[in-house]
Amino acid sequence: MVVAGVVASTWAIARYQPVWAMGVLLFFALLDMLLYAWMPDVLVCYRCHARYRDPQQGEAYPAFQLETSERYRQESRRLAEARDGSGARS
Ligand SMILES: [Zn+2]
Repeated sequence: MVVAGVVASTWAIARYQPVWAMGVLLFFALLDMLLYAWMPDVLVCYRCHARYRDPQQGEAYPAFQLETSERYRQESRRLAEARDGSGARS
């Protein structure tokens, strides 16, 4: 969707039609907002990234935290480096 918006907006700018370019960007922003409002929540496991689409399950868990996700991602990376022996040695 982002690529389609960028391509259509760039095409309109290239044809010297800035109003259409802004209209295209606004259209895709509105479409994004509507999809965000309509799409059901998904429960994602921080550790293995498994996705659970049952809305009843999602209510029992706290909202997604980017900081927690990053901690698990870095932990996974460190473990993989330690296992493979490709980590920095000093
Ligand atoms: Zn998991």
